[in-house]
Amino acid sequence: MEYVVNEKNAKITLQIIEAIHTNAAYLSEIDGATGDGDHGVNMDKGFMMAKERIQLSMNFSESLKVLGRTLVMDIGGSMGPIYGTMFSRLSRRFKKEERITKEVMVEALNSSIDGLMELAGAKIGDKTLLDTLYPATDAFTQAMNQQKSFKDCLIALSKGAEDGKESTKDMVAKIGRAARLGERSRGFLDAGATSCCIILQTMTSAMIEELDSE
Ligand SMILES: [Mg+2]
Repeated sequence: MEYVVNEKNAKITLQIIEAIHTNAAYLSEIDGATGDGDHGVNMDKGFMMAKERIQLSMNFSESLKVLGRTLVMDIGGSMGPIYGTMFSRLSRRFKKEERITKEVMVEALNSSIDGLMELAGAKIGDKTLLDTLYPATDAFTQAMNQQKSFKDCLIALSKGAEDGKESTKDMVAKIGRAARLGERSRGFLDAGATSCCIILQTMTSAMIEELDSE
């Protein structure tokens, strides 16, 4: 198949939630190197809260909306609004569709990038989750331009996310708590870039499962 069905596909979102839950301690450990070490705990709290509000019968777009809203309303710190924006933007683009194609996907990803840039004022290279999301989206777009299948575009996205996350190790933080460390933030992964990589890779593998099964 060349599309993922929107209807009753909340299981993709539930898999994302599960992945954050599984990696909560790891994410806090990464955050602890340059921040206050609460990233995994905070994320887990919000994502688990959303889990209770998501029914399997919901559309994929609807479940993303619930997750986004929960993160904005119920988790503090900077990550709530940031991931809230990302998931809300994805949801809004998917909402109108019965079938999520690669063309819809790339628009949704770009809308998320725009939303995050507006919200946080972050730029590429500031050592944030954008440094995962942007190269992942870029890799997806390039695969699309080469007429690759949706599945291959998602595989490219997953690889782009991994490379992007790894690239934050060499960056100096320009924004957020880690920015206070200046040069000393170099040498460590960014926690947000790492959670974003987990989210994107889980989402892509769940979507690939759908593409393979239909
Ligand atoms: Mg923190």
